[in-house]
Amino acid sequence: LLATGFYRTRLRRDRFPGVAVLCYHGIRHDREVRGPLPFEELHVRASELEGHCRLIREECHPISLRDWLAADQQERELPSRPVLVTFDDGYESVFTRAKAILETYQIPAVVFVSSGAVRRGGLFWYDRAAIRYDEASVETAKSLPHDQWQQWEQAIVDVEASAELRVLTPAQVGELAAHPLFEIGGHTVNHPILANADEPTQRREIEENRRELEAWTGSEVSVFAYPNGRPGIDYTERTTMLVCGLGYRMAFSTRSGFASIEESRWERPRFLMLSGITTEELAHRLAFSWRRKASAESIR
Ligand SMILES: [Zn+2]
Repeated sequence: LLATGFYRTRLRRDRFPGVAVLCYHGIRHDREVRGPLPFEELHVRASELEGHCRLIREECHPISLRDWLAADQQERELPSRPVLVTFDDGYESVFTRAKAILETYQIPAVVFVSSGAVRRGGLFWYDRAAIRYDEASVETAKSLPHDQWQQWEQAIVDVEASAELRVLTPAQVGELAAHPLFEIGGHTVNHPILANADEPTQRREIEENRRELEAWTGSEVSVFAYPNGRPGIDYTERTTMLVCGLGYRMAFSTRSGFASIEESRWERPRFLMLSGITTEELAHRLAFSWRRKASAESIR
């Protein structure tokens, strides 16, 4: 509490060097202990998210994507400590757990949805593969040429999975899009490593995903997040050109850093949020440690 008080005071007098875009994935229940989840640290506990949201509401300035796009057009100024909350992939727990917390603190969010699993109603390929094999095999598969990866992941049989790994339904995607706090963003159909695919495949992944999301939401999908997101490794300049050419207005990587207005709007950096980041730790990172030289992180 003492530490939180100190960093909170520091934060209150602060001006961020750009937007702090927080990148979450799933939200798990505090008490459920049903054995290990694959990539467990990507599923932040509900109480942790609640602490983060309280801090953001009390000491920072939560912004919406609309606020940011308007600031990009010089229609308005961003506040001094802008924070944008994002969720990658499209876990159902965003709908069943995060939504209520964000409503309590009135914090806007963008949910980047990979539409293939949503349409089919199964798991994301990396969760399926990690349960069937292990997490290491997922990392190996990410470096395969696209066709080989596709054959490999399509051959994995269905697996029994914890409810925590469930994926949003198309109807839930529509409900989130209609909610005043939420916006839906693109994240490809099948969540491939785009850099491993040829240009027509990349285009198809990005275009079809957007078309599906717009059909489910009935509105324009204007932002995109690169799967896995490391610049030059998971996507290339060619991918960025495609995203820009397809009419997206902003895109997000997983490079760690504040998103300054001077940098490219097609590669906005974000901060990865993992389970175990306490409220005090988040205050410390926002006020101090995230100011240091950013480094690339490997995430989905
Ligand atoms: Zn992802």
